[in-house]
Amino acid sequence: MHITILGGGVLGVASAWYLAKSGHQVTVIDRQDSVAQETSHANAGMISPGYSMPWAGPGVPLKAIGWMMQDLAPFMINVKELDGYTLSWMMKMLANCNTRAYQVNKERMLRIAEYSRDCFVDLRKELDIVYDARQQGTLQLFRKQKQIDALQKDIKVLKELGIQHQALDMDGCIEHEPALAHVKDKFVGGLRLPGDETGDCFMFTTELAKECEKLGVNFLLNTDIERLNEANGKITSATTSNGTIAADAFVCALGSYSPKILKTVGIKVPIYPIKGYSLTLPIEDESRAPLSTIMDETYKIAVTRFEDRIRVGGTAEIASFNLECPEKRRAAVDFVIQDMFPGATKVSKAEFWTGLRPMTPDSVPVIGGTSYSNLYLNTGHGTLGWTMSLGSAKLLSDIIDNKTSDIDPEGLSIARYA
Ligand SMILES: Cc1cc2nc3c(=O)[nH]c(=O)nc-3n(C[C@H](O)[C@H](O)[C@H](O)COP(=O)(O)OP(=O)(O)OC[C@H]3O[C@@H](n4cnc5c(N)ncnc54)[C@H](O)[C@@H]3O)c2cc1C
Repeated sequence: MHITILGGGVLGVASAWYLAKSGHQVTVIDRQDSVAQETSHANAGMISPGYSMPWAGPGVPLKAIGWMMQDLAPFMINVKELDGYTLSWMMKMLANCNTRAYQVNKERMLRIAEYSRDCFVDLRKELDIVYDARQQGTLQLFRKQKQIDALQKDIKVLKELGIQHQALDMDGCIEHEPALAHVKDKFVGGLRLPGDETGDCFMFTTELAKECEKLGVNFLLNTDIERLNEANGKITSATTSNGTIAADAFVCALGSYSPKILKTVGIKVPIYPIKGYSLTLPIEDESRAPLSTIMDETYKIAVTRFEDRIRVGGTAEIASFNLECPEKRRAAVDFVIQDMFPGATKVSKAEFWTGLRPMTPDSVPVIGGTSYSNLYLNTGHGTLGWTMSLGSAKLLSDIIDNKTSDIDPEGLSIARYA
């Protein structure tokens, strides 16, 4: 079957990999001149099933107000960009802020994230791809005793879900991240998730795209997708800046832009672009640098070690499709890297980046078929799209091939919004 994948981010490329392996003829279309140039370009670098928890939960609306008022706010709303779509998405998210929805959504996220981590292990056995990968776990770091006191609830959930974890005092944290010895007095302890992994999503996607090409996948780049065309319950083609592309089946992996293209054939999918920022910095002093990911829980900012660089990423901003990088938004990321790993790098040498997380109101991605018999979705992966990428793509490939999948697809398709 000829399958056209719309979008060459990590989800599009991962989908291309499994579909090509399964024997399909695959074309990937993207508007950029190479893969992973948008949200998959400079994310925080965590493959973290342990952090797979929905944003919407009981008490979150109140917490969000606190975050907005906090110094170096981890969450903000750009009121100039508030429109009807944004407000309607926020209402849908609020409807998920209860215990029952939280539990259902968390189970769905974990199902796909844990499966995905197994797929990463298998992929590394199969391919020798270099992406500054490390398998050294991740560490949540706390600045206040009250954060430690509140941890018992999270630990209970981790225990129930069978996720490996270690509550650590500062000496324990320093054993895993020796450079924290320089700032021991600023923190009170941490929670380590030893099963989590790290790496550079852009390198990963680029390398996987090369492997896809070896299997015959065609990348049609510099090509803007304008709309989909349908007849008799099927998608017949995509109209693009490079002409009309026909195929037997289509996969939409357009990240935050998925709703715009799906709307052209009457499909509504509640995905909103939640803006985030990152810095990438060269390491100046190895002995002061992190070894894996450390998440500063106070500012919700992750600091991740790549081979000779550090990535610092976080912040959630409701700002529609605004892609500006205002200097004032650097404050929190600048602060965390200098405060946590002083001397490891120089912020003057940082590359500042922004990306739009394709976020659903329940934080669960949208994977599976649609009302059109040959249109499939692999989108809406929000804060953890790289973490869930391989599992989502393998599941989708099995769904397209009508094979029994390794995990239950229940609750993952667009049907849950009907
Ligand atoms: C600051 C930040 C930190 C993050 N940290 C992590 C992390 O540590 N771990 C993790 O797992 N996830 C993280 N994420 C989330 C993760 O990066 C995303 O979920 C993931 O990259 C989404 O991938 P995607 O392929 O769906 O979207 P994208 O990477 O955006 O891909 C969509 C593609 O579609 C193309 N496209 C869009 N519209 C059109 C069109 N009309 N025509 C042609 N092409 C089009 C774009 O060019 C793009 O290449 C983070 C995100 C941000 C912003």
